[in-house]
Amino acid sequence: MQGIKDKIRAIPDYPKPGIIFRDITTLLQDARGFRKTIDEMVQPYAGTRIDKVVGIEARGFILGGAIAHQLSIGFVPVRKRGKLPYKTMQQQYQLEYGTDVMEIHVDAIQPGEQILLVDDLIATGGTAEAAIKLIRHYEGVVIGCSFIVDLPELGGRKRLEAMDVKVLALCEFDGH
Ligand code: AMP
Repeated sequence: MQGIKDKIRAIPDYPKPGIIFRDITTLLQDARGFRKTIDEMVQPYAGTRIDKVVGIEARGFILGGAIAHQLSIGFVPVRKRGKLPYKTMQQQYQLEYGTDVMEIHVDAIQPGEQILLVDDLIATGGTAEAAIKLIRHYEGVVIGCSFIVDLPELGGRKRLEAMDVKVLALCEFDGH
């Protein structure tokens, strides 16, 4: 079987010049590729108690939902500003130009819950850092972050490790 990395499509200059978009839809549409991805994202945590999966909008929902189902635990969405219907806690984060806001429902995480954070890709780590701050605000314990792709040149892994969070990525790509 082709590896996970080979099934990810590269789209140059999307959404803007200079960015290579790592498109995981080609991996997800492949039944064995999707299954293998989910298995590899949870395998390192075998034997660790996980209470909830937190997924980051939007591709983190697809992966996080499948992981939560596999582990028979709950799923919590972290979403961009204005999308969650109930009361939320907000966390600002830095974009290349300006800032944006991620939100979590105020009753989503209970103190002491062990959380696995999930997204498709880590670049600068700003989005994941915002999600970690939201989880920690409610005294959740982030036992790890699982991504399919790491772009090491952008420093996200180091940024999360500096927050004392374990980072798992199934593959790496050079550049942005
Ligand atoms: P960052 O906050 O810089 O770590 O960016 C991570 C978020 O942006 C994730 O939710 C990714 O889905 C998305 N993202 C950033 N760069 C890329 C890229 N080159 N290809 C696909 N998605 C990306």
